[in-house]
Amino acid sequence: MMIKSINPFSGKKVNSYETHTIQGTNRIISSVDKAFHSWRSTGFQQRAVFMLNLASLLRSKKEELAKLMAIEMGKVMREGVAEIEKCAWVCEYYAQNSETMLENETVETQYSASFVSYQPLGTILAVMPWNFPFWQVFRFLAPTLMAGNTAVLKHASNVPGCALAIEELVREAGFPENVFRTLLVGSSLVEGIIRNPAVKAVSLTGSTPAGRSVAAIAGSELKKCVLELGGSDPYLILKDAALEQSAIVCATSRLLNAGQSCIAAKRFIVVDEVYTHFLEHFTDKMNEARFGDPCDPDITMGPLARTDLRDELHQQVIDSVKKGAEIVLGGEIPNLKGSFYPPTILENVKPGMPAYDDELFGPMASVIRVKDESEAVKVANDTPFGLGAAVFTKNTIAGSRIAELQLDAGCCFVNDFVKSDPRLPFGGIKQSGFGRELSLHGIREFVNAKTVVVK
Ligand code: NAP
Repeated sequence: MMIKSINPFSGKKVNSYETHTIQGTNRIISSVDKAFHSWRSTGFQQRAVFMLNLASLLRSKKEELAKLMAIEMGKVMREGVAEIEKCAWVCEYYAQNSETMLENETVETQYSASFVSYQPLGTILAVMPWNFPFWQVFRFLAPTLMAGNTAVLKHASNVPGCALAIEELVREAGFPENVFRTLLVGSSLVEGIIRNPAVKAVSLTGSTPAGRSVAAIAGSELKKCVLELGGSDPYLILKDAALEQSAIVCATSRLLNAGQSCIAAKRFIVVDEVYTHFLEHFTDKMNEARFGDPCDPDITMGPLARTDLRDELHQQVIDSVKKGAEIVLGGEIPNLKGSFYPPTILENVKPGMPAYDDELFGPMASVIRVKDESEAVKVANDTPFGLGAAVFTKNTIAGSRIAELQLDAGCCFVNDFVKSDPRLPFGGIKQSGFGRELSLHGIREFVNAKTVVVK
């Protein structure tokens, strides 16, 4: 079978690749499992040398790798370059901090010695999405390999070139053979991979249905999983928010990666007193996007990654309008080659509409009017998702209290948009998944916190 990548701007085939067969997949997993037995006994300092090489390679190839993302999934060049720099950062971060994060912890007891030791688990499977084809993989890869695990990657089927480039970068950085391998397979083979006895755990970043399926299989095998799933992040605009600045931040968050981000702002919940003013500023900012060829440096928004995803988004807009939502901006598929969708704003968005209940994965903003702060919090939490949330107010003490105590989400920001950062834990609650990536929390997901006691 073949996997092919299609350029979403031109509609033309970029490349096609022979997929791995079940037997080929099992052979690769078995080599990665074999590599684990020597990789686990390398020291942190040795692993850090490879990880720092990887960071330098990423930095030196950032333009070329950004171009690959642009042609496989439509990311604009400047965002692609920033994504590769962030990957280098996460490699450096874990190269510098893993040893301290995983050092033995002595616990005082009646024994002559008692301590906790963090031991690697073995080969970990990563199932990854196309929207940040490098960052999603590197934020898994850096802590996982630094902890002494080995890994196999099943990347999204529309970014096979990125998947192979990552494998090649790891090889070029000098990591021993088979510490990290890419499996070119469709999602139908994931079940067999999880059930392979050499695979010890799985990390999936993707949609909630994919998470549910992977968690069920991993559960039946009693294998640990970390799930980073979809979101419908609420951004609360309170009556004392700096409106123009908030509108800039909100539009930036909604349009980044053409709106195809799990932690993009998706629902804008605005208190009545400032609703009209905020909407004016926000509409102006959303309207500033220049869409076109993602390889053109003047373009700020590329096409959506696939035509079927663009059409699905448009259907969600149509269904919401049928149920009473009103179009403030956009909402029409432009007459252009490429799978473009324009910046779109819907208001009068209510429960029962896709724009309120579901994840809309593209440059589409739902604006919801509420009477006050307490209704804003209620609407914010009225979602099956719980990934990110943000609150905009000049009263940062009140904002921080809302973020800490009232919003049901894994990452809550005040006066800024939600971003992942190697130093901070990242992940969700409710149907946005469980487990954490990044920071100390991320590296401790795929280790055995082993108690050792000596009498
Ligand atoms: P997706 O369709 O769920 O695919 C993600 C990955 O899972 C792909 O490798 C896909 O393989 C595989 N997959 C799909 N269905 C599967 C199944 N039933 N069993 C096993 N594997 C399966 O998601 P996507 O369209 O690539 O990405 C967009 C979604 O990811 C959005 O919902 C977004 O919010 C979420 N996301 C979450 C985070 C986070 O950190 N929380 C970050 C980024 C994206 P194929 O490509 O071969 O189908």
